[in-house]
Amino acid sequence: MIGILGFIALYALGRWRGWGRRWLYAAGFWWLLLMVAHLPMQVENPLARFAGGTFEAWLVFGLLAALVLAYRTALRRLRGAKPADPAPAPSGAFRPAELDRYARHILLREIGGPGQRRLKDAKVLVVGAGGLGSPALMYLAAAGVGTIGVIDDDMVEGSNLQRQIIHADGRIGIPKVFSAEVAMKAINPFIEIRPYKRRLDDGIARDLIADYDLILDGTDNFDTRYLVNRICAELGKPLIAGAITQWEGQLSLWHPAAGGPCYECVFPTRPAAGLVPTCAEAGVAAPLPGVIGSMMAMEAVKHLTGAGETLAGRLMIHDALYAETRVIGVKRRAACPACGAGSEPVAEAPSP
Ligand SMILES: [Zn+2]
Repeated sequence: MIGILGFIALYALGRWRGWGRRWLYAAGFWWLLLMVAHLPMQVENPLARFAGGTFEAWLVFGLLAALVLAYRTALRRLRGAKPADPAPAPSGAFRPAELDRYARHILLREIGGPGQRRLKDAKVLVVGAGGLGSPALMYLAAAGVGTIGVIDDDMVEGSNLQRQIIHADGRIGIPKVFSAEVAMKAINPFIEIRPYKRRLDDGIARDLIADYDLILDGTDNFDTRYLVNRICAELGKPLIAGAITQWEGQLSLWHPAAGGPCYECVFPTRPAAGLVPTCAEAGVAAPLPGVIGSMMAMEAVKHLTGAGETLAGRLMIHDALYAETRVIGVKRRAACPACGAGSEPVAEAPSP
């Protein structure tokens, strides 16, 4: 009886002193001691009489205990082999290195600890890793947005490097999304980057956008821009869209689910093909995408943390050549095919 009580005492001691699974070593030692005390062919051992039991009984007990332990260990290994949760840190906890990294944010009254937490929990998708995507992605990474998706099907070319500052000369020829991933990881290793090397088309747009809290669009083709806007309006996702050409850029936060207009409310008809030249055709001043892309990241940080007033319902137009910026109010259009009619919030009928 005392033999069994010894195991119970060791287990209790282990719990009390926080030994964890190490109490098993002590239990093993106690079992070994009992076995030696009960060895057959010896003169009566006082410990054997004190502990009770027989050699055979303790042997069977030991083997059964070993069997149970082996089964539990095997089960744990099997469970451990499952793919690990991608979350780098348990939710709710910032590592000391992260607290130090985000200290200047945490100091801001409008962001603080709770705001930084919201950034860490946020999932932001950036469409296009070009001129606007470059600074937007870098600032989102630096600001501590926990999950950043980036989709683009292009490769890094030498002619990109005049303004697409997330890429580098040594990465010419590799897909832009992987180049962007390298740069963002170099800035902030505490975040998750999800690169998608493909064009955002009808086939995947809905599933991909549904997986994110906020979308940033920095593409320079109208098909993608209207597609992203329609899917965002349909799914009720906020969209920060920027556009640039030569010396002028514009941006806004389109969020019809919150009552504001969508991109198509304000720009109902896409320009005829070839009417609006792309950057490749018309040229663009190097820092301009830096200005507008950084503003997109700024709007993202404000939207996610709830700081200040975003550009929802307003359109900012920046003329870099004359250093002039205007902000104009924009309204929702009831007949908008993207966000009007069906998705209009229905007023509740007064109760009788
Ligand atoms: Zn609309």
